[in-house]
Amino acid sequence: MGRITLDKVRKAFGDVEVIPPLDLRIEDGEFVVFVGPSGCGKSTLLRLIAGLEDVSGGEIRIDGTDATHLSPAKRGLAMVFQSYALYPHMTVRKNIAFPLKMAGMDKAEIDRRVDGAAKVLNLSSYIDRRPGQLSGGQRQRVAIGRAIVREPSAFLFDEPLSNLDAALRVGMRLEISELHKRLATTMIYVTHDQVEAMTMADKIVVLRAGHIEQVGSPLELYRTPRNTFVAGFIGSPK
Ligand code: ADP
Ligand code: MG
Repeated sequence: MGRITLDKVRKAFGDVEVIPPLDLRIEDGEFVVFVGPSGCGKSTLLRLIAGLEDVSGGEIRIDGTDATHLSPAKRGLAMVFQSYALYPHMTVRKNIAFPLKMAGMDKAEIDRRVDGAAKVLNLSSYIDRRPGQLSGGQRQRVAIGRAIVREPSAFLFDEPLSNLDAALRVGMRLEISELHKRLATTMIYVTHDQVEAMTMADKIVVLRAGHIEQVGSPLELYRTPRNTFVAGFIGSPK
């Protein structure tokens, strides 16, 4: 589960083609990073996969099923944004449980999933607090918890750490990598930070003006960048 393929997927806003026809294969369990400068189409591509934007052409398959025109809820993916809107009046437990409750899941199953997510994310000790009593990193963990309980076939992250300070960012980066190892679920992670890309990815997709410049492992891109754009963007691994 978590195999995603894009076949000639394109996106235009009005007359402006933001993503020219693009092919991409994401394997089950891979940690894939979309990297590229601001405005190159990273978020748009992620939103197309999530179903938050309609494609202008092409096909998206998720685990062998044509998902091109499925609603976001039916795709079995979970998206984690950089600005995570938690409900201020609800405890952490209720914040995480909320989407499941809305979906009509029974309480025993909700509790099982929330307790599981809390354990994996080390947030059991503040499960009864409200968002106002949490640090930025703890809040981001709650947002990830909300995604985990849906047991998605893939997680989609759009620059989830960009609102955190540098020190916290390094810690959260490690936590997300650790989570990926533990869950073994496909993750697509958008960033403009090449250090994040080099340290977290199994596979890096370098984007420029909506098209793919190169796809490869961090080592492949470092050793054999296809052109000066990729070389300049990847720099040296840290
Ligand atoms: P990134 O996430 O890499 O910074 P985006 O995917 O947000 O880039 O944007 C890619 C391009 O698409 C930009 O030129 C942006 O202005 C344009 N764009 C994104 N969303 C819309 C929209 N809803 N309407 C019109 N243009 C958009
Ligand atoms: Mg973006």
